[in-house]
Amino acid sequence: MILLDRVTKTYNRKSTALDRISLHVEPKEFVIVVGQSGAGKSTLLKLLTREERQTSGKIIVGGIDYDKLKDKDIPLLRRKIGVVFQDFKLLPNRTVFENVAFALEIVGMGNREIRHTVPKVLDIVNLKGKEKRMPLELSGGERQRVAIARAIVRQPKILIADEPTGNLDPKHAWDVIAVLEKINRYGTTVLLTTHNQEVVNKLKRRVVTIEHGQIVSDRAKAAYNA
Ligand code: ADP
Repeated sequence: MILLDRVTKTYNRKSTALDRISLHVEPKEFVIVVGQSGAGKSTLLKLLTREERQTSGKIIVGGIDYDKLKDKDIPLLRRKIGVVFQDFKLLPNRTVFENVAFALEIVGMGNREIRHTVPKVLDIVNLKGKEKRMPLELSGGERQRVAIARAIVRQPKILIADEPTGNLDPKHAWDVIAVLEKINRYGTTVLLTTHNQEVVNKLKRRVVTIEHGQIVSDRAKAAYNA
């Protein structure tokens, strides 16, 4: 699903954000990426969403070779990859329903289908009944689950969650993690970055550790349990 082969990213001559990273993520895998601030986690995610381009090396996601990707193909790529951020990035003046619907409106889906699709996705993230709330009327955990609903409503193959629990207290963090696990069970590949050691320990998933732009450990679930 995701293949990186000796990928290097330098922003300028002084700093190498990623240094010959190789990583293979299978379809339906759940991978946690950890590392200190400045290690290169965000850069890795930005390369996958094509917000940044690699300096060298090969990136293939869902069969798409990023070297051959044209600008006009980028919207299509972004439909394959849903993204969730630490600070939610919801539209503050729109309801929960409208925030999720917006992701469908911009790809031209009709109203009837939107009315059919959005409640199903809100159900998955356990926000049934909150359709008419405004983001400010929700807890942080609920807001993050709206953001997840918006990220998955177009059924991406991959969900990237960049520190999704960074602003949340433990109870709400676990609600969010539980939703990520559910989405993964339904068949979506999940890539999660986190600083939260408890999340890492409890999830018992593959953990990739980045330090100074290099992968210094890649522990599979089996090894993790041992
Ligand atoms: P993390 O997400 O693990 O905190 P980043 O990927 O943001 O790490 O950063 C990795 C390295 O790349 C850091 O040294 C950071 O200063 C540098 N870096 C990140 N973004 C830029 C940028 N836009 N321009 C220059 N340097 C950057």
